[in-house]
Amino acid sequence: MTSYQFKCQDIGMDCDFKVSAKKAEDLIPQIADHAKSAHEMTEISDDLKQKVNSAIKKKFF
Ligand SMILES: [Zn+2]
Repeated sequence: MTSYQFKCQDIGMDCDFKVSAKKAEDLIPQIADHAKSAHEMTEISDDLKQKVNSAIKKKFF
């Protein structure tokens, strides 16, 4: 079983938000939602998207 995990801290945010999902694609909307509500990022730039993508970690259980 694998899962994908993202932490705000991984992209240098001073924030303890973390999220995990079975598919990396499932993380993106949750991260976007969080970025919007917690960090007032109404738009996710390509730059940020890349940062987020490289910060997503695959975990094996
Ligand atoms: Zn955050």
